[in-house]
Amino acid sequence: MKKLKGAEVSAAIKSQVENLLKDWKKDKPKLAIVRVGERPDDLSYERGAVKKMESFGLRAQVYAFPETIEEEEFKSCFQKINEDEDVSGILLLRPLPSHLNEKQIERQIDPAKDLDGISPENIAKVFAGDETGFAPCTAEAVIEVLKAYDIELSGKKAVIIGRSMVVGRPLSMLLLKENATVTICHTKTKDLPGTCRRGEILIAAAGRAKMVNASYAGQDAVVIDVGINVDENGKLCGDVDFDSLEGTAAMATPVPGGVGAVTTAVLARHLVLAALRQNS
Ligand code: NAD
Repeated sequence: MKKLKGAEVSAAIKSQVENLLKDWKKDKPKLAIVRVGERPDDLSYERGAVKKMESFGLRAQVYAFPETIEEEEFKSCFQKINEDEDVSGILLLRPLPSHLNEKQIERQIDPAKDLDGISPENIAKVFAGDETGFAPCTAEAVIEVLKAYDIELSGKKAVIIGRSMVVGRPLSMLLLKENATVTICHTKTKDLPGTCRRGEILIAAAGRAKMVNASYAGQDAVVIDVGINVDENGKLCGDVDFDSLEGTAAMATPVPGGVGAVTTAVLARHLVLAALRQNS
């Protein structure tokens, strides 16, 4: 079984970013990472994103707010970041604490700086197949991996486990744009392994450690693992039991070392595209 490595895809995106910026004369584009509280998941994603921006020669600044921040104060601080001309793009780490109205922030974020596709305007564009907006980075990262390894999508049966607004749903639209025939599975899907086995491409985005084993994978399927979980020994793992697919799937992404590295690379490319569009 071939291992689809995120680092190789990320390196190719780095070259694209350098190429996009070859005539750029100003300070390098700056990413604002907005975090409320200290959730370990957020801190880990933040570290990865800052490191990636630095390694791509881009700027990143973290705007950290206390977990207890009042809604009005947060909205007013967020607006300042939104309007800061030195900030080309924003990544809001979510979920926000429950006393903050996330829906309102999704509407407040400037769509031109909304690099992770959370605003209604960008979501509508993803669903319309309009590439002038920004799709959620993880969903786009899955397409990047498939394309980087020359995996044909047109006419292929693609099965996604998960229907969240961050991964499953936008990814279904991106696959549809590539002319795949898409099935979306969720907690109420009957015969999940049988439904998944029909997929020539299987994408696991359920958030369930090592749930997907050989009984879910069709012969010679391409399996993409979006999950980021912790196993019973406290080790990082995906939704897919990678080793169990040997002899069944043709290719699969590992965790760590798969989609995650590509997600932050897509974020970097979105940052550069946002900066170029804002300055054109
Ligand atoms: P979520 O909890 O919002 O959604 C999970 C989806 O999976 C739901 O639609 C649910 O119906 C479905 N699901 C859950 N358990 C299932 C089961 N047993 N059978 C069938 N369907 C099931 O999660 P999310 O935000 O979409 O994230 C999914 C996973 O991807 C998580 O592990 C998350 O950490 C990871 N993630 C990774 C990246 C990345 O860059 N690689 C980015 C975002 C999220």
